Amino acid sequence: MTPIKFQNAILAWFDQHGRKHLPWQDNKTHYRVWVSEIMLQQTQVTTVIPYFQRFMERFPTVQILAEAPSDTVLSCWSGLGYYARARNLHRAAQYLVEHFHGEFPKTLEQAIELPGLGRSTASAILAIVDGQPLPILDGNVKRVLSRFAAAEPSWSLAELYMPTARAGDYTQAMMDLGAMVCTRTKPKCLLCPLEKACKAYQNGEIDSYPPKKVQKTKPEKQAYFIWIEDEVGRVLLQQRPHKGLWGGLWVFPMVEFVEGVDHWLKQHLPKRKFTKTVLPEQQHVFTHFKLIYIPIYIKLTAIVAINPGIWFNKNELDTIGLPAPISLLLNGKIKK
Ligand code: SF4
Repeated sequence: MTPIKFQNAILAWFDQHGRKHLPWQDNKTHYRVWVSEIMLQQTQVTTVIPYFQRFMERFPTVQILAEAPSDTVLSCWSGLGYYARARNLHRAAQYLVEHFHGEFPKTLEQAIELPGLGRSTASAILAIVDGQPLPILDGNVKRVLSRFAAAEPSWSLAELYMPTARAGDYTQAMMDLGAMVCTRTKPKCLLCPLEKACKAYQNGEIDSYPPKKVQKTKPEKQAYFIWIEDEVGRVLLQQRPHKGLWGGLWVFPMVEFVEGVDHWLKQHLPKRKFTKTVLPEQQHVFTHFKLIYIPIYIKLTAIVAINPGIWFNKNELDTIGLPAPISLLLNGKIKK
């Protein structure tokens, strides 16, 4: 199939079946498409939609985002995961306001200078908003191209099929085709505009493309979460350093070993009365490791000051950034 035929097939499919009414597709600005593309990394459209809408209500412009305190930005990201995305977006907004009067760069070279923007995401924004013919190579596009050509996904393949006209529609179409038709498991090849020319499909080798990376078992780390509630129902949280794991988010005091729990309690709550309940072990999977955490619920019969840490009322919790495991516990998804 020639590149022209490929593009025509993709665009004709998009005209009929592509997604054209997602919230970031109305009033298509660099800022809105940028925020959506960052949220969509590693996250499905249906999950992103309410987050995107809340984010836009809270930070309608790049200037407002740049000026916001990082706690407010992280609180709007709470539960979406991969918090480095939110921190980078915030830093990039500040950089744009400082160096570009808040305008998104016009060239790929300048755009990839922004924190959190790689070639594929920056190209997607410039293609969708400005119609620049810049290919993308996100997970969905890699899958379509790799199966179509029965080859390793590569930038040269993406460049080969990128049209010069309707670059935005083509980009959206490739992302939609990967998400809706050429899905990771059970692709709907009979509904695919590439079916007749798709090498992997024709050779019965869909499962071989894209070639799988050897999965390494993730190393495990363990932590005990000391979840303390005081007499009036406030919870004690500590803010993580801004760099590193869960940077800037609020968490329970944590210790690595079970002996550390009693040591921590003796040190911070000497002569205080409390009840202690060990809750079932939970897991949270990060990109590079798996965290096994055991929540230890402590109910105090007093009001005390503990340093470092701040006591939060339940109604204040949506004003700060909480990582998913802490949020699940505080929202009662894991029972005490
Ligand atoms: S024919 Fe099937 S495997 Fe090939 S691109 Fe289409 S959906 Fe993917």
